[in-house]
Amino acid sequence: MNKDWLEKDFYASLGVAKDATPEEIKKKYRKLARELHPDKNPGDAKAEEKFKEVSEAYDVLSDVEKRKEYNEARTAFASGGFRPGAGGPRGAASNVNMEDLFGGNDGGFGDLLGGIFNRGRGARTQQPRRGADLESHLNLSFDDALDGVTVPLRLSSEVACETCRGTGARPGTSARTCLDCQGSGQVARNAGGFAFAETCPTCRGRGQVIEDPCPSCHGSGVGAKSRTVQVRIPAGVKDGAKIRVAGKGAPGERGGPSGDLFVLVHVSPHPLFTRKADSIAFTVPVSFAEAALGAQITVPTPRDGNVTLKIPAGTTSGRTFRVKGKGITRKDNSRGDVLVTVEVAVPQKLSDEAKAALESYAEATSDVDPRAGLMNLAGQ
Ligand SMILES: [Zn+2]
Ligand SMILES: [Zn+2]
Repeated sequence: MNKDWLEKDFYASLGVAKDATPEEIKKKYRKLARELHPDKNPGDAKAEEKFKEVSEAYDVLSDVEKRKEYNEARTAFASGGFRPGAGGPRGAASNVNMEDLFGGNDGGFGDLLGGIFNRGRGARTQQPRRGADLESHLNLSFDDALDGVTVPLRLSSEVACETCRGTGARPGTSARTCLDCQGSGQVARNAGGFAFAETCPTCRGRGQVIEDPCPSCHGSGVGAKSRTVQVRIPAGVKDGAKIRVAGKGAPGERGGPSGDLFVLVHVSPHPLFTRKADSIAFTVPVSFAEAALGAQITVPTPRDGNVTLKIPAGTTSGRTFRVKGKGITRKDNSRGDVLVTVEVAVPQKLSDEAKAALESYAEATSDVDPRAGLMNLAGQ
């Protein structure tokens, strides 16, 4: 049992009723965690303290088993059945789950937040260990994707608590080996003549007991830290691209190397332009007169503004013109092209004057059959 629990009212911490449903608890936690997250309150020790309190409360109340255990402990305590010294406090707030916090894509932190990763708690090895890889999402405008951009990415990750250097014990004290399991983390239980090995309930399998927990991390040894990483997004990056930033993931433990950071790029679609390899394509309407007689039309291009495009007389609908060097920046710093496809626009409404002009045009071209040869092609 957890001595620490008896002093804490997790229901009050989250501001929920004792009989709150898991959904209510989750909802309340997400709201509070968003408000109190260290990333949102840099340097605010009070908010950080409250964030940890809320995380610890959620850690227990979101877990059916733990919640039951907690309720029973509180009840036993209230009725005088509690015997102090039954065990040490267990690490709290070690399972801050980003999915719970931010619920997929509706995250209030926008796109620039890396995932808090969960450190493996069980390993008691003293070997150096490489830090975890982190993944972060980045929304990029269509224009920024054309030429590349350097973006500061704010990442929040779990690190060793600064106060206790990750031991979980109050500075000046240290964790002691669990007496019930002699540090193995497992105890034998006899049931009907058989011996079962089970996780030591006193230390919960950690093999160590923290009697005087660190006030900053409540014994978990884990603290949150945010940092900013400058990420160079290469020109021409495509939607869905995953960019690896070596060595910018979570720091390693005991001198191990850092993990990598993977940035998943989402490029916003453009209302007019689409990408075709390193070219930019779009369609412009032209009038029949412009296509038939030829014209100089003004068309937009990305980033550089407008250009004049010469449409030769007799241009067919669907013909594509190339504007060189206005497309996507390539690796060698040259640029792809802009591909402009013209489409003859048919007027939906005609003035009397225009109608009369078209009728006389039809008359003047009555000897020209645009479907001549069609029947031959069809084989009749
Ligand atoms: Zn600590
Ligand atoms: Zn133990």
